[in-house]
Amino acid sequence: DEIIMEKYSHVRVIGEGSFGRAVLVLCRNTQDKYVLKEIQLPKNQSKLQSSRREAVLLSRMKHPNIVAYREAFEGDGLLCIVMEYCNGGDLLQRIQQQKSSQFTVENILKWFAQMCAGAKHIHDKRVLHRDLKSKNIFLTDDGSVKLGDFGSACVLNSSKAYAQAYVGTPYYVAPEIWDNKPYNNKSDVWSLGCVLYELCTLRHPFQASSWKSLILKVCRGAYPPLPNHLPYELHYLIKHMFKTNPKDRPSVHTILTSHRISRLLRSHL
Ligand code: ADP
Ligand code: MG
Repeated sequence: DEIIMEKYSHVRVIGEGSFGRAVLVLCRNTQDKYVLKEIQLPKNQSKLQSSRREAVLLSRMKHPNIVAYREAFEGDGLLCIVMEYCNGGDLLQRIQQQKSSQFTVENILKWFAQMCAGAKHIHDKRVLHRDLKSKNIFLTDDGSVKLGDFGSACVLNSSKAYAQAYVGTPYYVAPEIWDNKPYNNKSDVWSLGCVLYELCTLRHPFQASSWKSLILKVCRGAYPPLPNHLPYELHYLIKHMFKTNPKDRPSVHTILTSHRISRLLRSHL
């Protein structure tokens, strides 16, 4: 904590995970707020590299819809990543606050277009996020969304993209992952489809009381139909994002440029 204290002062803990915690801090010089993510560094050398990957990959991103990296430092067995603070909290909290009143179509399209723009930036840099979910998407006070938590991200086609034991929440995991196929850019598209569906219905598309029946539903691509009042383009898009064969799913680039919904989305960017 001593390194932190020199430059930043602790305000409050805003998130706690399995690897550490996210703390809201104040920069002593500028009085600006940041989030400092503390990650417990493992002693094991190869695991050490993968812990550092989060900071390395986040630092390569520069986009209005991705949480901005500021700096990272290590000490006392901790890796600290300092990043932009999104004061609207995460999208999961926002969805839960919504209770039963639905988001407007305008709102859904705007947020989804921004998520796609962020994801496109990540994929263009040949990086996969691998943990896209409403809890890892943050809101700013101007009402826009930013992708965060690069703790599972990896470089495309690296051996790390293969056969990595899955940790985390299972609702957003694409069928090919359950089938032990390598993670690819279309697996991120599946997860974004899950977030889009959540925005449309306030529910997960694939939900079950056991792992086994959840995986079965995911691998069949069987989800409850969207409400009828939503525009045809959204029904059509969700259907494509939930194609069980990743080859049949659109890339984020396609969604933003040549899908039936592209013009509608771009008008919200
Ligand atoms: P973990 O690896 O533990 O999931 P995250 O980076 O997702 O770590 O952070 C955990 C939680 O802390 C998030 O779900 C979010 O609620 C909050 N959080 C993290 N980073 C930020 C940020 N930059 N702005 C606002 N909230 C954040
Ligand atoms: Mg997270």
